[in-house]
Amino acid sequence: MYQKQTKIVATISDRNCGVEFLRSLYFAGMNVVRINTAHQTPDASSMIVRNVREISDKIAILVDTKGPEIRTTSVDPPEGIDVKVGEILKVSGHANGISSKEHLYVNYDHFVEDLAIGNNILIDDGDISLKVTGKQPDYLECEVCDSGKIKAHKSVNVPNVPIRLPSLSAKDLEFIDWAVAEGIDFIAHSFVRNKEDVLAIQKILDARGSSIKIIAKIENQEGVDHSEEILEHAYGMMVARGDLGVEIAAEKIPVIQRELIAQCHSRQKPVIIATQMLHTMIEHPRPTRAEVSDVANAIYQRTDAIMLSGETASGNYALEAVQTMTRIACEIEQHLHPQMSLQLHNPSDLVSATLARSVVEASTFLPIQAIVFDTLNGRSGRYLSAFRPKVPVFAKCYKKSVMRELALSYGIRSYFMEPHHSKDDFVRVAVQSLLDEKCFETDDLIAVIGGSFGPTMGASFMEISLAKNIASVNYSGDWT
Ligand code: PEP
Repeated sequence: MYQKQTKIVATISDRNCGVEFLRSLYFAGMNVVRINTAHQTPDASSMIVRNVREISDKIAILVDTKGPEIRTTSVDPPEGIDVKVGEILKVSGHANGISSKEHLYVNYDHFVEDLAIGNNILIDDGDISLKVTGKQPDYLECEVCDSGKIKAHKSVNVPNVPIRLPSLSAKDLEFIDWAVAEGIDFIAHSFVRNKEDVLAIQKILDARGSSIKIIAKIENQEGVDHSEEILEHAYGMMVARGDLGVEIAAEKIPVIQRELIAQCHSRQKPVIIATQMLHTMIEHPRPTRAEVSDVANAIYQRTDAIMLSGETASGNYALEAVQTMTRIACEIEQHLHPQMSLQLHNPSDLVSATLARSVVEASTFLPIQAIVFDTLNGRSGRYLSAFRPKVPVFAKCYKKSVMRELALSYGIRSYFMEPHHSKDDFVRVAVQSLLDEKCFETDDLIAVIGGSFGPTMGASFMEISLAKNIASVNYSGDWT
C-alpha cells in the first residue's frame, strides 16, 4: 500500500495526550509531536514526552517557544473590556498595569516610545484593531477600528514596528533547559527576526553540549526580510501563518509561503507549513473544500511537512484530521515528480549531493522500487529528500537522534542501525533487514548509496541491483 511522503506535525496538549490516542495518530500518519509552550508547563510537557516515547522512538518531538511577544495585561472587569468603533483609548506599556475601559496596558515597557501616529495595533490574533491617532509622553491615543471585547493576556501585534524585546523570554529559557534535559529533537523558536535570534539559542545549546535542532518560525515581515540569513543558521523553518497573517496582509501570505518553501528546498532544509490547515475540523468531522485545497497546495509547492494545531491539541476530530491530511498527501503525491532541475544552494558535501541527485535521477528511468542509504548526521537524507524522489527512501541511521530528525524530511523513512565494520556489511545487512521488515521484495530493483570510508566521510558509492543479490552476496568471494 502507498505510504505518504509528506510529513505531519501534530500539536499535542497535556489535556489530551493519552498513549492510545497518540498511538492512533501515529498509525494515521503523524511523524512529529509539537508541544506549544505558550500553553504548557515543563511538568505537563514531560508527561507528553513520556507517552510519545512509549509508542515509538521514531516520533520526533518539537518544542515551540513563546519568543518575543507582546500581550495585554490583566483586565478589569475580568471578563473583558467592551470597545466600540470610533472610541478613543489610552494605551501604554506597563506589565503590572490593570487594563480598563479608559486605559489599556500591554506587557512591553517601550510600547509608547516605539510606536508612531498612524501605526496599527492588532489584538487577539487581529480580531480587534486600534489606530494610533495621538502620542503623549506616557500614553498613545488610539481609535478603535473594530468593536469587540479585549481580554487579559491576549496577543498584541504591531505590524512593521520593530520591537526591542529580547528574543528569549524567561519562560523560553526555562523550556530550553527542559528540552535539553528531556533530549527533545527540535526547538521551534517564535518570531525569529534575524540570524541573531537563531544564534542566541544556538549559543545556549552549544554551551550545554546539545544537538537539538532549531526551526525558525517566520511570523512577521522582519523574519521574511531576513529569511536567507536565518536559513544559514537554522536547521529548518516553519511558515507560521497565524501570526504572519496578522502582521502582514493575508493576501500576501500565499506568495511568501511559496518563496519560503523554495528557499528551504534549495538549501536542503526541512520546511513546515502551519496553522489553520484543517481549522474547521476542530469542530466538524469534515474539512472545507478550501482547506483541502490549502493542504494540497502546500504539497504541490513541495513542502516537507504540514502542521495541525488546535485540530489535534483540543479538537473534537483529531484522529480524523490526521487521517484527512494523510489521504490528501497520498492523492496529491501521485501527481508529483522528482525535482531534477533543483539547484542545490551551497551543499557542504558535493560528492554526497551528486550521488543523491544521480540516484534519484536513476529512479526516474529504471524500475527502482526503493533507495537505501546509511547516515551518521542525516546530511545524505536531506540531499536525497531535496530531489523529492517518487520512490520510498530508507535511512539506516547510526544515531537515534538523527533517525528522529529525518522525521521532518519529505519521503525519508528512518531506521536505527548499529555501525558496521565495512561498506559490504552495511549494504548486505541494511537491505536484508529492510527485506525482513517487508519494505520491498527480493526481486525488486534497489539503489543503495553509502560511504566506503566510514560514515563521517559522507557518501562515496552507489549500487543498483536486485534486493536478493545485494542481501545474499558475500563479498569475500563466496556466494550464499
Ligand atoms: C502561528 O502563528 O502560525 C504559529 C504556529 O504560532 P503559535 O501557534 O505559537 O502562535
